Amino acid sequence: RMPLDHLLKVIVLGRSQVGKTSFVQQYVSGHFKEGYKVTIGVDFAMKTMEWSDDQIIRLQFWDIQGQEDTLPMTRAFYKDADGCILMFDLTNDKSFKYCKLLKQAVDTEIPTKDGHSLPCILLGNKCDLTNRVMTSKDVADLSNSLQCIAWKEISVKENRHVEESVRCILEAIMEKR
Ligand code: GDP
Ligand code: MG
Repeated sequence: RMPLDHLLKVIVLGRSQVGKTSFVQQYVSGHFKEGYKVTIGVDFAMKTMEWSDDQIIRLQFWDIQGQEDTLPMTRAFYKDADGCILMFDLTNDKSFKYCKLLKQAVDTEIPTKDGHSLPCILLGNKCDLTNRVMTSKDVADLSNSLQCIAWKEISVKENRHVEESVRCILEAIMEKR
């Protein structure tokens, strides 16, 4: 029997410098490069995986250029998204607060077929740093109030919880299929 093929689009949102490009790179190619990687327009990355014996996932990440004050809300970017990664930097409270705006925009801009909001996972990156300003409770509270499917503290640099964060969002997406 031919395996079922799922093409999934996951958008990665967050303020500039939180680690979006690094995250996608770490997940897709398994390495971390120090330094800011300028994203011009939209970055795409694909990874194909066997989800189960009879299902294949072709996962497509859309990572948009960081924008500080204007939400990166163009139709083409959001169109047909299956899931969303909301990322902030645990050492930067502005990036944390920005997630609220982003989630609200996602909920208004992306209608889903079943009337539920798009599955979103809230990720606090850079947990390897000691100068964090957001506590785990802050993150849990925001995740609950925004109705994210889950929240995690991760380090893209040390490859902590990157893989399982993606798995978590994929599980939420695949549950509905
Ligand atoms: P983007 O603007 O959201 O795409 O962020 P980048 O992926 O370009 O990363 C911004 C900066 O944060 C770069 O200097 C990265 O090397 C750094 N960075 C990304 N992830 C981590 C992490 O987990 N820990 C630390 N300490 N730095 C990170
Ligand atoms: Mg980037």
